[in-house]
Amino acid sequence: MSSTVKPSHEEEEYFARQEIEARKALAEKVREDMHATELENLKKLHLNHCAKCGFEMHPVLFKGVTIEKCPNCGGIFLDAGELEQLAGKQDGFVSSVLGLFKF
Ligand SMILES: [Zn+2]
Repeated sequence: MSSTVKPSHEEEEYFARQEIEARKALAEKVREDMHATELENLKKLHLNHCAKCGFEMHPVLFKGVTIEKCPNCGGIFLDAGELEQLAGKQDGFVSSVLGLFKF
């Protein structure tokens, strides 16, 4: 095999590399978008659904705090800070339990 190196070979290679870099960047962007879409779909799928049985949760006002309650299994979901709100600060047991989940 004879190597027929054209004068424009280096230039072609340069543009080919640029093309590859551009495609890589595009693929990265698509991947990020897919990730965002996946997160969005996950949220749609799980929002206000029971973590145990998948039933739709219903808001219930409990001691002035709106919590999500599952009509099927009776499970309760508390948003961040709601357990503290319900327990108050005088309850040493709950705050010690909460200490377990601090990160
Ligand atoms: Zn449930």
